[in-house]
Amino acid sequence: MDMLLDEPISSLNGVGKKRTALYNKLGLYTANNLLYYFPNRYINCCNPLNISQAIIGEKCCICATVLKTKKPYVKSSKMIIYTAHGIDTDKNNIDIVFFNNIYSFKSLKIGQTYLFFGKIEGNILSKQIINPMIIRPNEANLIPIYSLTSGLTSKMISSNVKQALKLIDNKQHYLPKNLTDKYCLIDFDLAIQNIHFPKSEQHLRKAKHRLIFEELLYWQIGIQLIKQKKTIKTTKKLKCLDLNPFLNNLDFQLTSSQKNVINDCISDCLKDFPMNRLIQGDVGCGKTVVAAAITFLFAKSKMQVAIMAPTDILARQHFKFFFKTLTPLGIKVNMLVGSLRLKEKSNIQSDLQNGAVDVIIGTHSLFQEKTNFKNLGLVITDEQHRFGVEQRKKLTEKGNFPHKLVMSATPIPRTLALIIYGDLDISNIYELPAGRIPVQTVHIPSSKRTRAFSYIKSQIQKNHQAYIVCPAIEDSEKNVESVVKYTQKLKQNIFKNYNIEMIHGKMTGTEKDFLMQKFLNGEIDILVSTTVIEVGVDVPNATTIMIENAEFFGLSQLHQLRGRVGRSNIKSLCILVSNATKNETQKRLKIMCDTNDGFEIAEEDLKIRGPGDFFGNKQHGLPNFKIANIIEDTKLLKICKEEAENILLADPKLELKEHEKIKNNVLQLFSNDNCIL
Ligand code: ADP
Ligand code: MG
Repeated sequence: MDMLLDEPISSLNGVGKKRTALYNKLGLYTANNLLYYFPNRYINCCNPLNISQAIIGEKCCICATVLKTKKPYVKSSKMIIYTAHGIDTDKNNIDIVFFNNIYSFKSLKIGQTYLFFGKIEGNILSKQIINPMIIRPNEANLIPIYSLTSGLTSKMISSNVKQALKLIDNKQHYLPKNLTDKYCLIDFDLAIQNIHFPKSEQHLRKAKHRLIFEELLYWQIGIQLIKQKKTIKTTKKLKCLDLNPFLNNLDFQLTSSQKNVINDCISDCLKDFPMNRLIQGDVGCGKTVVAAAITFLFAKSKMQVAIMAPTDILARQHFKFFFKTLTPLGIKVNMLVGSLRLKEKSNIQSDLQNGAVDVIIGTHSLFQEKTNFKNLGLVITDEQHRFGVEQRKKLTEKGNFPHKLVMSATPIPRTLALIIYGDLDISNIYELPAGRIPVQTVHIPSSKRTRAFSYIKSQIQKNHQAYIVCPAIEDSEKNVESVVKYTQKLKQNIFKNYNIEMIHGKMTGTEKDFLMQKFLNGEIDILVSTTVIEVGVDVPNATTIMIENAEFFGLSQLHQLRGRVGRSNIKSLCILVSNATKNETQKRLKIMCDTNDGFEIAEEDLKIRGPGDFFGNKQHGLPNFKIANIIEDTKLLKICKEEAENILLADPKLELKEHEKIKNNVLQLFSNDNCIL
């Protein structure tokens, strides 16, 4: 019977060439696709408004009896206006107007009462409802509204869905009975029926519950299958375990969190299976030195290490740190970034191939086909939210399953992380290095900018440095002053006698590197910048960061930017300049002023932006959920994680007949990636 559901969408009544194209535009190709195209909201028709209460300019639901229909008005060859006249129980009048829609118009019967949902126009004396959806009073109370593309209406979709619903085979078991019993899940067909045409709010809740459960369960099964696949054995075990030469060479003591994380990694790399670990820690907690410690052990164990950074600046900065700390210990460190000359690149590449380089630090160019390794033992990805899953995979494919270490400065709540990164083990760095003073954050309107500038001057007098961040490189962007003009103005006026420079993303790597080095050396007092400094940049002497038009930045981004200061024992200040009055912006800026805790900020950011935006486009391998929401449905998520484990424990490859449907759905969710099984 399921075959029917796989039929092309055009086999449904009323779906011709034109509508098929529209459905395709929405990614809908089969009847089954359509069934999974859930409404994004519902109109509640239980309490229609009295016409006198219907607000002009807004969409609402009214109840009216059709008194008469008027003669169609031919406005032009392309526009015919059909109007009916209606009245409600309080004798309020309304015109029911359809543009070019003779079908809806003709469906109205004089003397009949209907619910109409649509936009109200006109004035208090003479109201119209424009192109309304017509609902017969005996129809469902909650009317589905779908996200549309021009040319399609929710009504069209509804009528096609109704047909598709008839194709579902009731007898088929979609989930094992023990699960449906245990969690009071209604049958699949009932759930699908009620997600589109809920009989009541309660039916809708139950339908959602069942469908969310299903979606999360399939996802968890998929993730766990991927995890199981980690059965590839490795011979790349650490041989050198003596960290002392490295530690003795450092000019600070590691925090106990740092030590714990290093130990987690070491024990991973002694096992038979490749390490796959995520290090989470707030900005400034010192993830780089942890990476360097592990790198040291690998190099001393005669294995190569590749470190990927998301930006040129960061790659260069890491290079300096690794070079400084590892070279004296007899380890050869080099850098591979996009801006190198071809000749230099190919030299480094051959060094990697013949083993003359132990540690390579780079940006994306590391993934290029030509780069091969002699004996790649470990891949470290820094600030991983910038990298796609695909890119990570590409690099690890090169090294014949090396160990993997991922570092993220966008911490997410631990329970969530465990579930999302089902395939990664997680270590957290909870503390900042001793002696750090939390950065103070203030929010000011632009009228107080001069005072902020004075503060910056006073800091420079004390030999400290400052960042000023602007949202746009060029004028046209975002309707704000460009970083170029802004810097010019500061140079000519208020900071005439200071060393002030500008850095932005359109400069070449060498230019950026030159400026960052000058800033690090203290030759620049104020660095005006775009978000190129957002990730990872480490200049401990910088104590002030002023962020212009702070409303343009997301919470996590602001937190990252703020993390550029407070990297030493000197008190630091973050100044958010914004005149934005929007409630949401105010809330965001207040959170920034109230807390320095990256976990808390990430949680808020997730809530505000939703998982899709927060994690970026498919970056984290999160599927596009149709109905589940990993933030709101955490309780169910936990349950589904456990049940997924149970199912796979009993049937590791989903070979049992009762799991056939599950298997198909899991494969579908993971884009038919057969590798997961
Ligand atoms: P992040 O975790 O944000 O990447 P970094 O690795 O850039 O942080 O470290 C921030 C700064 O703190 C660097 O200057 C680093 O050298 C320093 N640092 C790291 N660990 C310690 C420590 N245990 N004690 C003192 N300073 C440290
Ligand atoms: Mg970092």
